[in-house]
Amino acid sequence: MDRFEHYGWPFFEERHRQLAAEADGWIQKKLIEEEDADSICRYFVRELGKAGFLKHCVSATPDVRSIALLREVLAYHHGLADFAFVMQGLGSGPIVLAGTEAQKKAYLPRVAQGETIAAFALSEPEAGSDVAAMTCTATQKGGGWVVNGVKTWISNGGIADFYVTFAKAEAGISAFIVDAKEVDASERIDIIAPHPMATVKFKDSKAELIGEAGHGFKLAMRNLDVFRTTVAGAALGFARRALAESLARAKNRKMFGARLADLQMTQAKLADMATGIEAAALLTYRSAWVKDTKQTRVTREAAMAKMHATEMAQEVVDGAVQIFGGLGVKSGHPVERLYREVRALRIYEGATEVQKVIIARELLK
Ligand SMILES: Cc1cc2nc3c(=O)[nH]c(=O)nc-3n(C[C@H](O)[C@H](O)[C@H](O)COP(=O)(O)OP(=O)(O)OC[C@H]3O[C@@H](n4cnc5c(N)ncnc54)[C@H](O)[C@@H]3O)c2cc1C
Repeated sequence: MDRFEHYGWPFFEERHRQLAAEADGWIQKKLIEEEDADSICRYFVRELGKAGFLKHCVSATPDVRSIALLREVLAYHHGLADFAFVMQGLGSGPIVLAGTEAQKKAYLPRVAQGETIAAFALSEPEAGSDVAAMTCTATQKGGGWVVNGVKTWISNGGIADFYVTFAKAEAGISAFIVDAKEVDASERIDIIAPHPMATVKFKDSKAELIGEAGHGFKLAMRNLDVFRTTVAGAALGFARRALAESLARAKNRKMFGARLADLQMTQAKLADMATGIEAAALLTYRSAWVKDTKQTRVTREAAMAKMHATEMAQEVVDGAVQIFGGLGVKSGHPVERLYREVRALRIYEGATEVQKVIIARELLK
């Protein structure tokens, strides 16, 4: 099966096909020997910036198809390449959407060139799925703002240069830019697939308001309206890699006087994996295409794509581990890495249950 076959779908234009092919060739030359996750991320941010790919996720008119397909291609080859790419977009999105000209000028070019690392700080220890329960506060002090409180699960926490942070002001949840020098991000969090991540503490941290006070929740949701569909793109990349690894293994592994691929139960597994991937790809690029071409909110489409693609990817990767047998759980093996990488996708940017609530709410409107 041609991994790029779906780029021939009517959702895409020639520029998308060229971008996917360019990114696929590029990333294969940029894969490096294992280092710690912080160094790998810094490396990918720099290289993605130099190569011009970050411009796609730090754009005044984001093209969701380009971001989703870049995530698909990068995730296929390296989970941290995808992570480094998208966090630059997620962490600067509110500035793109509502920043002043001065803020845009100060932050966006450097983020797009990979010279500055961005982070998006919304979640708190007691406010994950229930965003409105946040307790971080923002108050006006000496003509500016200060933020107090604790954020957690913050991707790029510890290596970011600035944190786009959400906190409650008198007018309601508001978005701010907080310089890394103003926070304590020393409490790092280890997760099953190593990523730079930290709990971030704010103590009278100087902050710059983004947009209007009280508009932060809307801003966070508008940002997610762009990036949620792209999580599905990353899920597709992991799933396609798992299928490619599975096909190669099934064709080569000899057992019972035949190949693993000759056994019908294996064939059924492979057929289910491929069908799941294609169905999720349709939902993903449908959502991206609607956003790009109609310029409307895609709350329902993005929730369906994110939910279905991440659940599918988990199943496909699990199927790949099964096909590989013992090798599938050997530390460092590609499918073992995929197994660890894929798990968080069903949790962040709204867990599957949250997506179900969103879809049902849209249906019942
Ligand atoms: C790898 C990773 C990276 C992350 N990066 C960031 C980041 O950069 N910035 C940031 O702000 N946050 C980030 N997060 C946090 C992420 O957004 C939260 O983990 C997520 O929103 C869930 O919040 P929680 O962990 O507090 O779980 P909880 O809110 O406690 O939810 C636990 C579980 O409850 C279930 N649930 C939720 N709603 C319902 C419902 N209505 N009905 C029934 N069950 C429900 C779901 O299964 C959910 O997983 C990241 C998380 C991970 C794992």
